[in-house]
Amino acid sequence: MTNDFKKKKSQKEQTFGDVMRSQGVSRRSFLKFCAATASMMAMSPAMIPKIAHALENARRPSVIWLSFQECTGCTESLTRAHTATIESLIFDHISLDYHHTLQAAAGHAAEEAREAAMEENYGKYLLVVDGSIPMGNPGYSTIAGISNYDMLMETAKGAAAIIAVGTCATYGGIPHANPNPTGAVSVNDLIKDKPIINVPGCPPIPVVITGVLTHFLTFGTIPELDHLGRPKVFYGQSIHDRCYRRPFYDKGLFAETFDDEGAKKGWCLYKLGCKGPTTYNACATTKWNNGTSWPIEAGHPCLGCSEPDFWDGGGFYKSLSMPTENITQTAIYTAAGAVAAGVAIGAMNKSKKNSAIAAHDKTTIDDLEK
Ligand code: SF4
Ligand code: SF4
Repeated sequence: MTNDFKKKKSQKEQTFGDVMRSQGVSRRSFLKFCAATASMMAMSPAMIPKIAHALENARRPSVIWLSFQECTGCTESLTRAHTATIESLIFDHISLDYHHTLQAAAGHAAEEAREAAMEENYGKYLLVVDGSIPMGNPGYSTIAGISNYDMLMETAKGAAAIIAVGTCATYGGIPHANPNPTGAVSVNDLIKDKPIINVPGCPPIPVVITGVLTHFLTFGTIPELDHLGRPKVFYGQSIHDRCYRRPFYDKGLFAETFDDEGAKKGWCLYKLGCKGPTTYNACATTKWNNGTSWPIEAGHPCLGCSEPDFWDGGGFYKSLSMPTENITQTAIYTAAGAVAAGVAIGAMNKSKKNSAIAAHDKTTIDDLEK
């Protein structure tokens, strides 16, 4: 047994509260994180103390992370946090017993760690998978001489739940794109008897991955999923419905090229191929790089990376044909002032609601801190 693995075993006794205290995270910061988690997951402020209590006392679950046909972008996404956030602590301090990109162990020691974690935590560990599984030939992708298919089936047996991270694990992704030379399939195509949470994106948003882990740590359950197995709290609305350029779409104001006046004025990117109207993801609200920006804010259309077959979907810069009628209809509304009024009322309500939630959260945090 390696020293790394022994160290992890003693760390497993710690609760998340112990981990936070050892890292110098203040109680107020922790409670703010719980309030933000409640808001992000559309829960009532009354849940904040429950989240705080459950998370503080949560023991670290064993996590085995398998990477198959992938580009390491999903792992890169998670490990590129700019500052030490509680989200990153949640990721850093889960008991990541096996991750062949991040672990120190190599060769036989690495495989021993995976087997020991499976045996010790049978029925309780979380299995995270990124990458697709090649079914054309077992030799296309192997780890320690074991085919991806065999490793997935063996490790999935004792898992409490599986998180398929990234578009390759959730739908087959780029390896699955036409002509799919390796016969790539998703986790969902192979495993039918375990709860699977799909967290698609190329790569997925880090806060969405940690949000799913937080939900599991807090409630011991998986979040409510949509028809594609994605957590509804993050994938319940389209990019288009939450896009800050939406008022331009509603007014029929579009950039026609990447450097015209419309592009400079920040108009809608629909005619440049934006797939926001048919893409469900949280980029427009959580953004990327600790909330700094996101692709549409940087002037690039959404590619639809969290949807099945996005790579084969007809061209990244070719506009969708579907919503043309909506544009006309919405433009008529706009002319009548209905949308403007609706947006104004919606914005007022939203701002009142946000202030009410913020005030409520602050009161709750103040009360809990006493
Ligand atoms: S089409 Fe794209 S850029 Fe335009 S409003 Fe929708 S999501 Fe935003
Ligand atoms: S904006 Fe669209 S393509 Fe870009 S990361 Fe978000 S969902 Fe994926």
